[in-house]
Amino acid sequence: MKRKVIVLGGGIAGLTSAINIKKTIKTSDVTIIDNSQFHVFKPFLHDLLTNKKRVENVVIPFSGITKSKGINYENKKALSIAPEQKHVRTGTEKISYDYLILAIGGEPNYHNIKGVKTHALTFHNIIDVTRLKESVSTSLSKARNMKGDKLNELLTFTIIGGGVGSVELACYLKELVQKKMREYNIKKNARIIIIGNNKKILKNFPTSIRKKVISRLNDLRIETLLGYEVKQIRKNHVLLKNKIVRSGTIIWCGGVKPNNVVKESRLKTKNGGVLVNSTLQSTSHNSVFTMGDCAFLVNDNFNKSFSKNAYNTLKQANLVSKNLLNWIKDKKMRKFKPSRNKGFLRLGSDFAIFYYKNLVLQGFLISKIYAIILKHRFNLSKTI
Ligand SMILES: Cc1cc2nc3c(=O)[nH]c(=O)nc-3n(C[C@H](O)[C@H](O)[C@H](O)COP(=O)(O)OP(=O)(O)OC[C@H]3O[C@@H](n4cnc5c(N)ncnc54)[C@H](O)[C@@H]3O)c2cc1C
Repeated sequence: MKRKVIVLGGGIAGLTSAINIKKTIKTSDVTIIDNSQFHVFKPFLHDLLTNKKRVENVVIPFSGITKSKGINYENKKALSIAPEQKHVRTGTEKISYDYLILAIGGEPNYHNIKGVKTHALTFHNIIDVTRLKESVSTSLSKARNMKGDKLNELLTFTIIGGGVGSVELACYLKELVQKKMREYNIKKNARIIIIGNNKKILKNFPTSIRKKVISRLNDLRIETLLGYEVKQIRKNHVLLKNKIVRSGTIIWCGGVKPNNVVKESRLKTKNGGVLVNSTLQSTSHNSVFTMGDCAFLVNDNFNKSFSKNAYNTLKQANLVSKNLLNWIKDKKMRKFKPSRNKGFLRLGSDFAIFYYKNLVLQGFLISKIYAIILKHRFNLSKTI
């Protein structure tokens, strides 16, 4: 019997699980539904800022990947999911499924702060890369004919958020700005500022890693303004308590929340994400497997969430295909074990930090190793 599997969202989670499901369950009819025509490998988006990767290695058309793998692809935007009726609604159409793999990712979380959506850029997708590059070029081009406060404003680039996304982006932005300054022959110094509401940068990381990150930021002369909550953003102004930062380019990196479609669906949620158990099934509807940035996993043994990153997402995607097969065959399913104390931080195109428990390594070689690991884990080299 053909089993109809709908994979909603073809990001890291959806694309990896679709390929694996088609391989492991030969009788399955697998369809990826995505509102974009392209798979975007987000961990490499920074490399597009510095032109260290070619666009075609980061943004890959679904049509080129799915056909050869025997997977169907539909370019549609899902509006909601009806898990009782087992269908996904896209506009006027209802697409039915036997099993749903829900992997529609996340979106920037503005925390309802006034002016963020209008006056700040985000860094979440390919369009954001283009906008940021344009903003840097426009600011520096204008700066050539400016003096005084306006010149300082145009040469100030502010990133809001004290987490991994901000710190990584700041290092890559530094490279981009320096390159453009040389092109525009601007001799003054540009400022890159990270604003965080916590007094510590990367507050959830151990001191040994934080120290290395701070030292890297210092080496790159990236400034930090920590312990400041953003009250409002106006055109070229970040309003903090008792302080205003004037900045020609403002980028919001204040966190990611699960995709809004989840809210429109009758699945049990927590913190905006689909609540899943350790087998990665929705706790309210077990024919829906969910993972990646749109899921909220509560471990069976202890109520503790874990960091959402490409590494954990890939682990989940590999497990989902195995668990779907086991579930169909009525076999015991495996539990997802998140990686908590292992990871990489990429602080520029030629510098990364690797940490595993108490071991912390850093440098050029680590950045190259990480790029190779990411590429091969995701099998990009085989996919394209
Ligand atoms: C700039 C950036 C850099 C990062 N760097 C790293 C890194 O170096 N290391 C690391 O471990 N992690 C990194 N991450 C985090 C990592 O990329 C994410 O955790 C991972 O991409 C999550 O995968 P996902 O499949 O859940 O979501 P996504 O990759 O976001 O995929 C979601 C998919 O769903 C589709 N979609 C969304 N809404 C709809 C809809 N309504 N209908 C149909 N389709 C829809 C989207 O088009 C997309 O294809 C980074 C994230 C970003 C944004």
